[in-house]
Amino acid sequence: MAALMMRLGPGSFGSARVHRPALFSAAAAILRSVSVSATQSISLPEMVKIVEVGPRDGLQNEKTVVPTEVKICLIDMLSEAGLPVIEATSFVSPKWVPQMADQEEVMRGLHKKPGVNYPVLTPNLKGFQAAMKAGAKEVAIFGAASELFSKKNINCSVDESLVRFEEVMRAANQEGVPVRGYVSCVLGCPYEGTVSPNKVAEVAKRLYSMGCYEISLGDTIGVGTPGGMTEMLNAVKKEVPVEALAVHCHDTYGQALANILVALQNGVSVVDSSVAGLGGCPYAQGASGNVATEDVVYMLHGLGIHTGVDLPKLLDAGSYICHSLNRKTNSKVAQASSKL
Ligand SMILES: [Zn+2]
Repeated sequence: MAALMMRLGPGSFGSARVHRPALFSAAAAILRSVSVSATQSISLPEMVKIVEVGPRDGLQNEKTVVPTEVKICLIDMLSEAGLPVIEATSFVSPKWVPQMADQEEVMRGLHKKPGVNYPVLTPNLKGFQAAMKAGAKEVAIFGAASELFSKKNINCSVDESLVRFEEVMRAANQEGVPVRGYVSCVLGCPYEGTVSPNKVAEVAKRLYSMGCYEISLGDTIGVGTPGGMTEMLNAVKKEVPVEALAVHCHDTYGQALANILVALQNGVSVVDSSVAGLGGCPYAQGASGNVATEDVVYMLHGLGIHTGVDLPKLLDAGSYICHSLNRKTNSKVAQASSKL
């Protein structure tokens, strides 16, 4: 049960005021028109920052515990493929999440590529301090948009969970460390069902006001549709600048790419994804988890949107981890490219 709580944790805290990574922020605001037909056009960002969550969010939800050297190799292959942000690990107690017990070795072992960020999840001050000791330069915290989800997973209300993160935020601000915030269950909750867009907006605003530079809105159980995504984003954009928003879509119901596309049309230019679609969904047996990075990159490049990612190298990284885990890829693009 305890393992579950951290696995489900993507929540977002980011602070636009503090240490916003500069690479994509300016370009992200530029929208351009892509011709869809002779009579229609849609506004899309010129550039999208992909946040690769496979090594943490993905592997944490895999049944197999992955050897440290495999994790390091995967992260290095992902940075070589051009991913600008790679969530590397989680500084949570190994009692809760045994899959992440080697967090220090991973942080020390990976070959940090200049210009690439390697954020780590830090659920409490102890985790934050350990992350700093291991050389982390960016951290992430999380909150849920659903009261029942928060109660069942971290045994406290949403409000209480946010108070817990305040000490992490304080320490991070003191050290000049950027903090990313995740909000989970933004389009539905396994316990509450429907989640109010206003509740999502409230939690996102709280995290942003606490100092998170970026808020990643997570459809944790992958039940959302483009209609729900639009409604939710409309509510959140009233509270948090769209430049500070990211979407984190799971593909449980096959809606992830469609949801991402409408998020882009709504001005979002940061997308979380997981190589090979690593990660399962504990609430739907046999269902796929995070949207596959390969599929997101394929779609974005098809739309003429710049990502900086080399798709063949990314496919190699996906193929590598699937062979290591002895599992099939969840990426349709990888399947179609016969890389596995
Ligand atoms: Zn996820």
